[in-house]
Amino acid sequence: MTGTPARRVTLVTGATGGIGRALCRRFAAAGDAVIVSDRDAGAVAALRMELGEAGTVAAVADVTDAVALAGAVGRAVAEIGPVDVLVANAGGASAASIATTTEASWRRDLELNLTGAMHSVETVRAGMVARGKGAIVFIGSVNGLAMLGHPAYSAAKAGLISYARALAVEFGPKGLRANVVCPGTVRTPAWAERVARDPQVLDRLVKWYPLGRVAEPEDIAAACLFLASDDARMITGAALPVDGGLMAGNRVMAAELTLESF
Ligand code: NAD
Repeated sequence: MTGTPARRVTLVTGATGGIGRALCRRFAAAGDAVIVSDRDAGAVAALRMELGEAGTVAAVADVTDAVALAGAVGRAVAEIGPVDVLVANAGGASAASIATTTEASWRRDLELNLTGAMHSVETVRAGMVARGKGAIVFIGSVNGLAMLGHPAYSAAKAGLISYARALAVEFGPKGLRANVVCPGTVRTPAWAERVARDPQVLDRLVKWYPLGRVAEPEDIAAACLFLASDDARMITGAALPVDGGLMAGNRVMAAELTLESF
């Protein structure tokens, strides 16, 4: 007798933000049950309504609080089943330069972007290892690959690449894969404050992107869906820029160097 294959369960942190919403929509559209995790209960409830409550469950917690997060994910798992895919997406940046970084802002950025991701992994790691299968995708940033401002945030995002490699090597033999998606600029509410200060900021950034646009949240979700899938079964420990070619080279500088137009 063959039963219906169990529905894949995907946990998304930072689920109610710009990229998080696209992740939830995309994984739900792929047929997954989605654990919608963020710190604001009202926003989580609203997103679940939008996605269809039947295929989703809430895990309301702050990723910097390991105990609260473990409790919330544990309750969600009891309801919906063990997590097959984690997209560790919760993140954000504070100080833009070293000159404006304080001890407190440094700690805040590392706590949210690096330690928060580790807390998220710890809610699923033992289960994935016990079942011999699991995929983890971290949302890193091009800031983890090159100096583009926000130094503490960038250090945390660079740290995620190292952490993903450690998971890949230590738990690869147990069937766990861990990869990092490194977005360039993505049009999300994270830009709201800068867009309020300068409504043209995202349009001006386009000149740095060989593909001629900044990313939409769906571009990031598509790469995550691939890395989480069995099509990526041989990919682990990788950091994949999803940046319209930003990290491939510098078109503006190439033009200045060669006196040609690109
Ligand atoms: P966003 O501000 O729209 O969403 C961030 C989400 O994370 C929000 O829902 C917020 O509530 C949640 N969050 C923040 N702190 C949290 C905490 N302590 N506990 C639980 N949830 C928390 O931002 P976004 O642009 O969608 O960013 C998502 C991820 O993508 C982040 O890791 C960010 O660093 C990364 N990223 C974004 C860009 C970009 O240009 N937008 C570029 C590169 C990387």
